[in-house]
Amino acid sequence: MSAKIRLYVEHPLGEGQSVPLDRDQAHYLFGVMRLQVGAQLLLFNGSDGEWRVDVAEAGKRGGVLTCQEQIRALVLPPDLWLLFAPIKKARTDFIVEKAAEMGAARIVPVQTDFTNSERIRQDRLQAHAVEAAEQCGSTYVPEVADLQKLSRFLDQWPTDRQLMFCDEAEVGAALTFADEAAMGTPWAILIGPEGGFSEAERKRLHALPQSHVVSLGPRILRADTAAVAALTVWQQKYGDWG
Ligand code: SAH
Repeated sequence: MSAKIRLYVEHPLGEGQSVPLDRDQAHYLFGVMRLQVGAQLLLFNGSDGEWRVDVAEAGKRGGVLTCQEQIRALVLPPDLWLLFAPIKKARTDFIVEKAAEMGAARIVPVQTDFTNSERIRQDRLQAHAVEAAEQCGSTYVPEVADLQKLSRFLDQWPTDRQLMFCDEAEVGAALTFADEAAMGTPWAILIGPEGGFSEAERKRLHALPQSHVVSLGPRILRADTAAVAALTVWQQKYGDWG
């Protein structure tokens, strides 16, 4: 039995439901993993929990899986967005992968005044989030949004969403957090690019009523490290680490 294979599909899952496979999925399951008719694996789709499924048909270019039993209900992460300024390709991939593993509900690349890259491959980043969810046992896949301007995003900032603004100018300050009143409400974390935030951005972010200016310790972290560190301290204080 190969119940260890966990695959994300964009298809409804339910008792007795047949799930058709596309060419890539069939190649992976039957070509690479050598599964045969009758083999078992796990499927999730981000909304119907996790299912044990059987291989009903196995072909070179396709196949069919049949849902047997729901083994886990959907578990949604806390309502936390990660906003970050894209950096070099491999490090941006890393941030998306880690954000999915760390339980961000939504990942939003933002263009800041000193953002290194002006374009992202949203589809590629979304695929990284899917892969991370497959391997970390999550039943949920965070959406990776398209690149958008930070200034425009701040113009429409939702009034009920708190912002953990990680400001490198605070390096060395103590890590302070909002009081208990900010628990159980929507949040976002903001991480800047390698060049840091501009003074204009910093002024604007300090003025935002929902903003909580946070220090991530006595050293300046690279953006990818800062993203993981910020997600860790947030999850520990407000999130689902129990
Ligand atoms: N080039 C900038 C550093 C940018 S680090 C400079 O030398 O000042 C990239 C991002 O990581 C920052 O914009 C910030 O969001 C976050 N970050 C890194 N270290 C931090 C720290 N000690 N406290 C708060 N945020 C930090």
